[in-house]
Amino acid sequence: GGGVSGIGAAQLAFYLGANVFLSDNKIINHDFKRSISYEEGEHTEKCYECDFAIISPGIPTNSLFFNQFKERNIQLISEIEFASWYTNAPIIGVTGSNGKSTTVSILDSIFSHEYESTYMGGNIGTPFSVNVLSENKYNVKNAIHILELSSFQLERIKKFKPYIACILNLSADHLDRYPSITDYYNAKLNITKNLDKECYLIYNKKDEKFYAGLEQKTNIIKFNLEASNADFFLNNKKMKLKGNHNIENILACIQIAEIFNISKSAIKSIVENFNPLNHRMEPIKTDDGVTYINDSKATNIKSVIKAIESSEKRTILILGGYSKGK
Ligand code: ADP
Repeated sequence: GGGVSGIGAAQLAFYLGANVFLSDNKIINHDFKRSISYEEGEHTEKCYECDFAIISPGIPTNSLFFNQFKERNIQLISEIEFASWYTNAPIIGVTGSNGKSTTVSILDSIFSHEYESTYMGGNIGTPFSVNVLSENKYNVKNAIHILELSSFQLERIKKFKPYIACILNLSADHLDRYPSITDYYNAKLNITKNLDKECYLIYNKKDEKFYAGLEQKTNIIKFNLEASNADFFLNNKKMKLKGNHNIENILACIQIAEIFNISKSAIKSIVENFNPLNHRMEPIKTDDGVTYINDSKATNIKSVIKAIESSEKRTILILGGYSKGK
């Protein structure tokens, strides 16, 4: 695939001296294609002349094209798996049905404040491969990778091992792609595949049932909105992030930052000043007593429910989109 992550993977592979072939059934909109061999508009037999293939999440797993790799015993991996082979820096991997972008952005603010070489990437902004390429090319020392990971990116991992894996929450989504909700959850749970006692798994206590047995494998930290004791206080009046769902995202960030011994005061000042990302519960304007909120990134039912729950006034909901199988 010649999309953003496909190009990123091709650039990293090319830098490493691989013989790269890029194939997309659409036109590849990037000049880098001219540095390597490529085809566009169709996938031909040439795709199978390889040692392994990095498959874009956009390629349907039930397609003939996809299945041919399996039939020919060609290893298929995700771009995330590939990039992870070329870094020894700690990886903080964040997945979940909702809140990923918000959480990795908060983490990026916290970690950038403490560490010079913090890379944020994956499903948000820059592909992981491009960050790993920069780390290698400029011989960056003490890098940290903060990754937003979608279920699609986690589908084809083999050795990918984050130092910290965080699963924010699990609720129904993408049922147009997965045969069942269990398949979707299993793709997300793939993030735990290679965790060991050196690593951490962070999840929401209310999702405990999904993680049975994992404490034998790795260090577990649960965050819990219902807990009645606290050792961390935020000033709600100052904060621009609203709603309990954001408190859950923040709890996850605190747990992660504390593993790196980042001080409570540093975390607190960054979190209190963090602005919501665009299109996520973003107040647009107030006119005639009516506040307009853009939450167009609420692309599944749970995130819409959270939006309604965090509204304190009479609410009119304007919904569009499709139901993704739910
Ligand atoms: P993602 O990257 O997982 O799509 P975003 O941070 O972009 O998550 O937020 C997407 C939508 O989900 C927004 O509407 C946001 O308000 C809502 N949301 C954010 N965090 C949570 C959460 N922890 N639980 C439920 N909904 C959330």
